[in-house]
Amino acid sequence: MSAWPAPRPLEHEHQVLSLLGVQTLVTVKMTDICKTIVEIFSGTRMINDMDIAPIPTEKRDVWDHVMNACIVFYHYTCMSDSMPFILKQQIRAVLRSSSNAMAKEGIPPHLAIGIDLHWLPPDMFAKWIPGVDWEYTARPQGIDSEDGTLTGLQFVASDGVSQAFQVDWYQRLVILHGELFGSLLDACSPYPALHVDNWPQAKSSLSLIRRVWDLADEAAQRLCIGAYAAQLEARLLRDVLYARDARWAFQRDISDSLLSSPWLPPHLLDFALGRQPSLCNLPAASQSATSVGGDWWRRLDGAETPSLIARIEMEFGPMLLSTLLPEGSWHEPDDPRTAHWYLQSRIDPWINFFLRCFVVGVTPSDSMIMALEHFTTNTAVLFSDRDPQRCIPIDVVPVRVLSRTCLRFCAREPNLPLHRPALLKADVWLERFEPIAASLKEQLPLPTKFTHMRDACEHLGILFASFGQEALERSSPRLQRLAMELLNQAHLCAAKESSLIQHLPDIRRIPPFWLRNMALACGLINATTIAREIQEQLQQDQHLLNPVGNTQQAIITQRSAAVKPVHISEDVDMDADSLQFEEEPQHNIGMTDVELQPRNEDHAPPAVTSGDIDIDMDADDMLPAPYVSDSVPSGAPRTEVQHPRSGWSPDHASSSESKSPENVHQNRSKSAAERDDAQQNSNAAQPEPVAKKVAPRPDAGQASKKKPLPTVIVIKLTTTASLKAGKKDPIRDDPDFRAYYASGPWNVPNTGMALEAIKIDTKLPTYTPTLGKKGWRRFEPFVLSPSAAENLAALVRQHGMVVLGWSNGLIIEITHGIYRCQTCQQMWPSTIAQSEWWEFCWRVWGGTCGPCSIRNKGCRHRTADCRDVPPSVYDVPYKQRKPTKLPTSDMTLLILGPLLGIKVPLPLSKNAKQQAKRKEKEEAAKLKGQSKGSTDLEEEVRQQGDVHQRPSRRGQARKKAESEDDAMEEDDRDEAESLYEDSTDRDDSDYEDTGYV
Ligand SMILES: [Zn+2]
Ligand SMILES: [Zn+2]
Repeated sequence: MSAWPAPRPLEHEHQVLSLLGVQTLVTVKMTDICKTIVEIFSGTRMINDMDIAPIPTEKRDVWDHVMNACIVFYHYTCMSDSMPFILKQQIRAVLRSSSNAMAKEGIPPHLAIGIDLHWLPPDMFAKWIPGVDWEYTARPQGIDSEDGTLTGLQFVASDGVSQAFQVDWYQRLVILHGELFGSLLDACSPYPALHVDNWPQAKSSLSLIRRVWDLADEAAQRLCIGAYAAQLEARLLRDVLYARDARWAFQRDISDSLLSSPWLPPHLLDFALGRQPSLCNLPAASQSATSVGGDWWRRLDGAETPSLIARIEMEFGPMLLSTLLPEGSWHEPDDPRTAHWYLQSRIDPWINFFLRCFVVGVTPSDSMIMALEHFTTNTAVLFSDRDPQRCIPIDVVPVRVLSRTCLRFCAREPNLPLHRPALLKADVWLERFEPIAASLKEQLPLPTKFTHMRDACEHLGILFASFGQEALERSSPRLQRLAMELLNQAHLCAAKESSLIQHLPDIRRIPPFWLRNMALACGLINATTIAREIQEQLQQDQHLLNPVGNTQQAIITQRSAAVKPVHISEDVDMDADSLQFEEEPQHNIGMTDVELQPRNEDHAPPAVTSGDIDIDMDADDMLPAPYVSDSVPSGAPRTEVQHPRSGWSPDHASSSESKSPENVHQNRSKSAAERDDAQQNSNAAQPEPVAKKVAPRPDAGQASKKKPLPTVIVIKLTTTASLKAGKKDPIRDDPDFRAYYASGPWNVPNTGMALEAIKIDTKLPTYTPTLGKKGWRRFEPFVLSPSAAENLAALVRQHGMVVLGWSNGLIIEITHGIYRCQTCQQMWPSTIAQSEWWEFCWRVWGGTCGPCSIRNKGCRHRTADCRDVPPSVYDVPYKQRKPTKLPTSDMTLLILGPLLGIKVPLPLSKNAKQQAKRKEKEEAAKLKGQSKGSTDLEEEVRQQGDVHQRPSRRGQARKKAESEDDAMEEDDRDEAESLYEDSTDRDDSDYEDTGYV
C-alpha cells in the first residue's frame, strides 16, 4: 500500500526464494556486510581480510556476542560451512583468545568460551579448543532447510482438519536479518545517562549505534527486505528517542545522529520529534488535522482517532487475521526451536500493529486486543514447559487490559522514555525559546520568519515529546506561556506559509490545559463561544436521547438480546493459559427508563408575517434601479405588498404589534419624558432581567427546527468601485470568526462578536483623504426585500451585513458583529447589556448609524487598511445613490423591531435623556417650592439622591446584577469608553451624516 510513508513499503514484492537462491544472495550480498561488521566493532578499517588483530580479554565478551549473531544467521541459511573468510578469521581470533584465557589464566572452559561451538563445523575450532566432541549438524533444527516447514508442528481444528506451518524463505530472511542486527545492537555498550558530563560516552555510543543502523538498512536493501522485522523496528524507535534526547540533554550540535538518517521511517521520526503523524496529512484523513485556523488549539483526538485507527487496521488487519487459528488443538513439536520459529513468524504483524498505533497516538480497538489475546492464548500452549521469547515491547501495548497469558509474551521492563518529570529543566528550554521569541518581535521578511518558526516548531515538538504530559503539567508557568505563545505564532505563520504545517507539533501531545489556558489568554475563545458550544453539545445530547424513529427500540433490542450461556468449569483459572473463549460473552445491561420532557417552545419569538410590516409609502415608487434582480423584474408591480398604502400609522403599528403588548404604541409625537415612562413600564413588565441579554439565550428548539431560509437576493449594485459579487471577506478566516460563520447558531443573540483588534490596534493608520480607496468598503451586503426578511436577526447574524430596500426607496443596512461600525464594535459589554438593540448597527449609506446617533458618538468604520473611516467615505462605492434619511427612532423601532424580534423600546438618546433630567429637576424644584437658582450643593445632593433612587423606581423585578450595572453613571461609562475611542469623537460636521432627530 503506497499510503504508508515507510521508506520501503511493507508489501514489497514478497520474494519467492529457494534455498539455493537465498544462499546465492547471501554469498554475493552479505560478505561486504560481514566485513563492515568486523570493522565497526574493531574500530578500524581493514584493507586486508588477513588483518585480524588479537582479541584482548576485556573485548572477548563483545566479540562472542557479535560473532554468535553472525553464526546464527549463517546457520539458519544452511551456510555455516561457507561463511565469509573474514568471519572465519574473526571467529578464530576470538577462539584463540578463549584458548589463551584457559591456558594462561586458568579460566574454566564454560567461562572462557562464549562462541556457540555446536553450530560451527569442528574443523573451525578444533585447533583452538581441542577435545570438544559432539555431533555437528549443518542443517538447522526445528525448521526444514528447503521449504521452511516447521518440523513436527501440527494443529488439528475441531472439525478434524489438520494444518502444518511453514516459514518461507522471504519471511525467514526478514526474521534472520532482524535477529542479526538486533544482536549486534545489543552488543553495543548501553547508553550513558542523560547528563552533560556523560557526553564523551554518549558521543561514541551515538556514533556506533548510527553505524550499525546504517549497516542494517544497507543489508535490508541488499537482501531485498521490504520492511524490518517488527522487533527490530521497536528497537529502532528506542534508539531514535535516545538520539533525540541527546540533543537537549548534552546541548551540543548533533547533526549526524540517527535522526538524520535518510532511511528513517517517517512515523518513527514524527513520533520522536513530537510532530503530527505524516499519516494525518493523507487526503482521507480529516481536514481538521492540518487546519491552522482559529481552532488549531482544540484537541484532535475526537476528530482524528477513528480514521487513524481505521487506516492502521486496514493495513494490518488481513495479516493479523491470518495468524488466528480456529478452535482446535496442537500436536506439540519434538523440537522446541519449532515453537520459536512459529512465534517469530506470527508475532511480527502484531508487534507492528501495536507499534504503529502507539506512535500514531491511537488506542487499538477492543476487538484487536481480543484478537491478540486469542493469538497469545493459543500460542502459549506451545510454551507450556518453558518461557516464550518476550518479544512484544511492553510500552506499546495496553498492559492494564491484558491477561497474564498475554503478558508472558511481553518484555518485562518498559524500554521507552515516556515519563520523565525530573529531566525537564525549564531554564534550558527558556534559554532556547526566548531568543526566538525576541527575534520574532522584529519585523522580519517572511523567509526569515519562516526559518525562525521552523526552529521554534522543532524545539516545541521535542519539548512536548520528550518528557510526557505529566512532566509538562508540572513545569513552570513561564515555560508554558512562552511555549504556547510561540506555538500560536507558528500556527498563524503556517496559515500564510503552508510548508510550515509539516513542522507543527502534534497537538495531542500538549497538555490540554496548556491549550485551554492559551486559548483563553489569547482570546481565541470567549464566553460567547463557550456558551454556544455547550448549547450545541446539549442539542446533540438532546438528539441522542430523543432519537427519531426506531433507534431507541433498536438499542433496547440489541441490549436485551439473549445472553448465550458460556460454560466455564470451576477449576478454570480465569487468568491462566487454558482459558478458551467460546464466544465473546455479552453483558446484560440494565436499562434505565429516561423520560424526556417535551421541549418548551414558548420562548420562541412570535412569528411576524412580513406582509404586516412592509411599509409601502408610495406604490408607484418601484424598487430603485440598482436593486433590480432576476426575481424582481424591473417595472413590475410588487405583488407581495397587500397593505393599504396609507403609509405607516399608529393604527397600523398597533395592529401589527398586537402580539407584543409591551411594545411602545405611543404616538411618536409624545415627549421624551413620556417615552421614558413607557420604557420603564416595559422594563418592569419584562420578566427577563436586562443583564441576561448579554448571554446568548439557549434556544435549542429554534435551531433544530430551522425554518427554510427566505430567499436572499444578491443583486449587482452599480458602484464606482469594482466589487465582486459574493466576494468572501478574508477576515472570516480569522481564528475567532471562522467557527461562528461556519456554523452559527443564528437564532441566538451574539454580542461578543467584534474585531478584538480594534481596541488595541495602533498599527492601522487613521484614515486621511490621501488613503483614498483604502477607506472604502469592499464587501457586498446581502440585499433582501422586506417581505423576505422574516427571521431577519438570524440572517443578519449569518451574513453580517444585510440591506433592506423598501419599494418606497427607503434603504436600511443592518450589520452585526464584525461588520458593525467601529464605534459600535467598541461598545462596552456593560453598555451592550443595557439594550437588545445594541447587538445590531443599522444605518443608511453614508450616514451615522442608529446606535451612534442615539449615543451621540462619532460613527466611524474600519477597513483592512485603516481605521476611523467616516461613513461618507466608507460608503463611496454606493455613493451614487443619494442617501436617504435614516428613519426616526420611532420608525426604526416599528420597522426593525418586529423584524429583528426585539420587543423593547429603543434606548434614549443623550439629548432626550438630558431633557428628561432637566424636566425632572424642574419638577422637583417646583415641588420643593424653590426657584431655579438652586445652590451647587443642593444640586449635588439631588443628583446623589437620583442615583440611589433609580433602582427602586425601576421596580422589584429587576435583579441585582442590573442595579450594579446601573450604579455606574452613564456619563462615567461614556468617559471610560472614550479612552478607547481615541479619535472617534471628533466633529462630524465635515461629513454628510444624517442622523436621528
Ligand atoms: Zn454602529
Ligand atoms: Zn456608528
